[in-house]
Amino acid sequence: MIDRLLERALEEKLKQRDRLVSTLSEREVEEARRDPHAKRRPRPCGLTIHPAVGCDRGCLYCYVPSIIGEGSIKINPLSPEQLVLSLLENPYFLPGANGTLLAVGSVTEPFLNETVTLKTLEYVRAFRRLLGNPVQIATKPYYSAELVRALVDAVEPRASILVTIVTLKHAKLLEPRAPEPEERFEFMRALVKGGLSASLFLRPIVPGTTEMEAKEVLERTLEAGVRSVVIGTLRVNWEILDRLRALSASYKHILSRVREVPTGSMQVAIEGSDLKKKVEGMARRLGFVVFPSSCSANVMSHDLSCAACSMGPCGSLENLPKIDCSCIHSSLEILGERPLQVIIEGNTIKIRLRKRARKRAAIIGTIIQTITKRQVRFFE
Ligand code: SF4
Ligand code: SF4
Repeated sequence: MIDRLLERALEEKLKQRDRLVSTLSEREVEEARRDPHAKRRPRPCGLTIHPAVGCDRGCLYCYVPSIIGEGSIKINPLSPEQLVLSLLENPYFLPGANGTLLAVGSVTEPFLNETVTLKTLEYVRAFRRLLGNPVQIATKPYYSAELVRALVDAVEPRASILVTIVTLKHAKLLEPRAPEPEERFEFMRALVKGGLSASLFLRPIVPGTTEMEAKEVLERTLEAGVRSVVIGTLRVNWEILDRLRALSASYKHILSRVREVPTGSMQVAIEGSDLKKKVEGMARRLGFVVFPSSCSANVMSHDLSCAACSMGPCGSLENLPKIDCSCIHSSLEILGERPLQVIIEGNTIKIRLRKRARKRAAIIGTIIQTITKRQVRFFE
């Protein structure tokens, strides 16, 4: 039952944390505790891991320059042990194979250059050695046999690697300093040979471009030995919209799908569900497994199942952790709370907390969702 799983994961968290605190210097421990990885709440795709912050590849659809600033790259100064300690200090984080999904690469390219690559490899090696959590890396990689060998050697063997390709013909314009799509196919091929689980990351669909080339991209992906895909639509802010003017043939298609022109720091999803369905249909007809989201690729590559959001369930329902009201009560007690009421409705767990516990609801909800792989709702 999941209460025992949770108990073991929390014991392991404390044990590992104390062990690392005893081996690192006071200054190193302090740096780890101050790092954002010690505080950040997981996003739906998991807890994002930042070997660096920033990227200079200049992809027109990228939101990173708007957050970090154009071209600026800051390597994460934490050692692998410090980063692991940071995660163990994070109240939302659970270690282990049933624990928090880790997603590398949200605010940088994990294989951007030699220094970032080294950092990424050090971090994923430490996760494998010290944590055992499911790891996913999203990348537009350059190809080198040496990089693939180093990755296969460093990362846990079930890791999910997402390789982004959204265009072949317009890659130079859309992703000016990223490696050629040919290199990315080569990388996929080598990953498959190396025994890692690779998926095509067909995201974002850039209207007027990606859906026109999707069939060819999918067919080339199959030739590289990869049979699964994550497909996603485009989000824009005013800077991204402005940059996308350079893609003149597509710009009018993009603009026609923006319901509200964004201003300031606003970011909006464009209307692209029809394109997503169209590309999903193409992929299925070609025999692809289509994942509804990147976390789904991570869950499936680790032979887990999850029903924590309306896009699921992902994986087989029989494989979901077994739960009942009594083990949820007991799990909440392990977290230091005695709930007033627990109701299980399908794959949703509804919890009524005592008033004084409500300020901890976000942490409690995240931990219970992680361990049960179900949606958690609170009610009064
Ligand atoms: S490689 Fe990734 S992080 Fe870098 S600019 Fe392109 S989309 Fe952004
Ligand atoms: S149900 Fe699927 S898409 Fe939803 S959080 Fe779980 S793995 Fe992700």
